[in-house]
Amino acid sequence: MSLTLPLDLEALHHDVTGWFAAEGRDLPWRRPECSPWGVMVSEFMLQQTPVVRVLPVWEQWMERWPEPAALASEPSGEAVRAWGRLGYPRRALRLAEAARRITEEHGGRVPSTYADLLALPGVGSYTAAAISCFAFGIPETVVDTNIRRVHARLVGGRALPEPSYTAAEARLAAELMPSAGHDGAELGCAWNAAVMELGALVCTARSPRCGECPVAGACAWVAAGRPEPHYTPKGQAWAGTDRQLRGAMMAVLRASDAPVEAALLVEVASVDPVPAHVGAQSDPATEAEAALRRLRALPAADAQRRRCLQGLISDGLASETSHGVTLPH
Ligand code: SF4
Repeated sequence: MSLTLPLDLEALHHDVTGWFAAEGRDLPWRRPECSPWGVMVSEFMLQQTPVVRVLPVWEQWMERWPEPAALASEPSGEAVRAWGRLGYPRRALRLAEAARRITEEHGGRVPSTYADLLALPGVGSYTAAAISCFAFGIPETVVDTNIRRVHARLVGGRALPEPSYTAAEARLAAELMPSAGHDGAELGCAWNAAVMELGALVCTARSPRCGECPVAGACAWVAAGRPEPHYTPKGQAWAGTDRQLRGAMMAVLRASDAPVEAALLVEVASVDPVPAHVGAQSDPATEAEAALRRLRALPAADAQRRRCLQGLISDGLASETSHGVTLPH
């Protein structure tokens, strides 16, 4: 992708960051008082999960573990439990590992350089750039799915970016960044946040609201008559997938404070449904039983269930003991 319009970058930066200052959401990890650790936790949680689902979990997490050392002192299973229903729970394990590394190698403080961040578990190039920028004000070029979509439309004139991130997109993103110099760092970070927010709130995947967009007058996609996507994006199947089954198993383990018999998780045909001793006392028992009933009601063969449980154990998300299956210790 290359620049197709004679864009006035200065005006673009001004319009998008001005819109963001007026319309951007007041999210706790964006507030000046938020610590680098708070920003880092938000970036892990937001990788695959929308803001509205992240907010309550982030707030509970930060209250319980306001510093990396607090999380590092607890078993990984507690991180997985607190992750709740955010999905992709390996992120919780990686975040707990990262907290331990920060505690042991960085004196308990989130490192501020891109290279040190990139060396932490669970931190890829996007997350390292985002933490550098949003926690430390270093204007790395940040590119997430929302930013890619805005770039594809605004500059590329296409409804969607390519299915996978390309080198051309990376070059374009760098080209669109405000240049260094007076206020360059602050503007660069504001630009990253603003384009991301524009993609999340206005230039959305399914129904972009171009009438409310601060840069509609410069948009190549609008100028081209809003052409259809140049490919059909693959939908993400959910029903019947291993992901669905693994998620349901994790829900049982999170709700149970006692080990759960493996047969209850993987043998539906031959084992009686949900004995009363699953979970522990009163409320947790009710929640654990409900989660187990949901798991067992899914239309999946025992072989798929066994495969999913083995996958959770080998990923470190579950442990099998002589008493049954639990969250990791
Ligand atoms: S005008 Fe429409 S397509 Fe173009 S950037 Fe704005 S919201 Fe996206």
